Amino acid sequence: MEHELQLGAEDPLEETRLLAAALQAHSRRAAARGVAWSRVEANLSVEGKSGVETKTMPSSAAADRARSADAGVAAPAPTESPRILAPACATLEDLRAAVARCTACELCRTRTQTVFSDGLGARRILFVGDAPGADEDRSGVPFAGAAGQLLTDIIEKGMRLRRDEVWIANLLKCRPSDNGKPAPRASESCSPWLERQIELMQPRIIIALGQAAASHLLGSDDNLARLRGRVHERRGIPLVATYHPANLLRTPADKKECWQDIQLAMRAIGLQLSS
Ligand code: SF4
Repeated sequence: MEHELQLGAEDPLEETRLLAAALQAHSRRAAARGVAWSRVEANLSVEGKSGVETKTMPSSAAADRARSADAGVAAPAPTESPRILAPACATLEDLRAAVARCTACELCRTRTQTVFSDGLGARRILFVGDAPGADEDRSGVPFAGAAGQLLTDIIEKGMRLRRDEVWIANLLKCRPSDNGKPAPRASESCSPWLERQIELMQPRIIIALGQAAASHLLGSDDNLARLRGRVHERRGIPLVATYHPANLLRTPADKKECWQDIQLAMRAIGLQLSS
C-alpha cells in the first residue's frame, strides 16, 4: 500500500521517512499519469488530505494551457498545420472558416479575431498588406483604420473603383501582439493560408503594399525602392509592389510614386485610367 503524507509524527526521523516515502509514491503515481514534476511538488502537500482539489496535467500541451490560463491568456489548442489544412479548402469561405480556427502560431493567443479579407473582388485585383493592426483586430476587416481610409481613397478616388470590387488581404491573418512587422516564423506559419487564398481568388494582378508583403511574395531581399516601379511575375500572376498606406501617412511625399505604381498596375491589366 502506498504511503500518504502525514505531517506531525512525533519522531522527526519518522516524519522525514514518511515524507520521503510519500514523495516517492506521488512521483510514481504522477509519472504513470504523465504529470510534470513541478505539478507533483505543488500538489504534494494537499493531495487527498486537505480537501484542496488536485490538478493533473497529462502533457506538455496541457501544462502550456495551464500556464497561459494562469496568465489570463487563452492558449492554443493543438492544430494541424496550415500546410495540410489550406490545400484541402475548396472555397474561399471554407478557407476563411479554417483560418478562423487556426492556432498554428503564437499570434492566436493575443488576437481578438482572425482577419481574412475584404471585398468581393469583381475586378480580380488583390491588394496584400503585411498584418492586421489594432483596428483590424477589433473589426475583423483588413485596412480598417487611417491607413485603410487612404487605401480606400486610392481605390475609389484614384482607380475609380469601389472598394468592394477588389480584394484586400494581409500576409498574416492575426495581429502581431506588438503591432510590429510580421516575425519570420509567424509569416512562415501563415503563408499557406495566403497561398491558397491566391489560388482560389486567381487575381489578374497582385499589388503588394509595403516591404514585408513585397519581399515575402517575391521571395526577395531587395528593398522596396528596388522592387517598386515595375511589373513582376509571380507564378504567372503580374505583381506590382508599392508603399504601404501607413508609410504614406508618415511620408506623404511618397504618394506620387505610389500613384505611379498603381497606374502601372492598372495598365498591366488593361484597366482604363481616369483623365
Ligand atoms: S497568424 Fe496565421 S498561422 Fe498564426 S495563428 Fe494566425 S492564422 Fe494561424
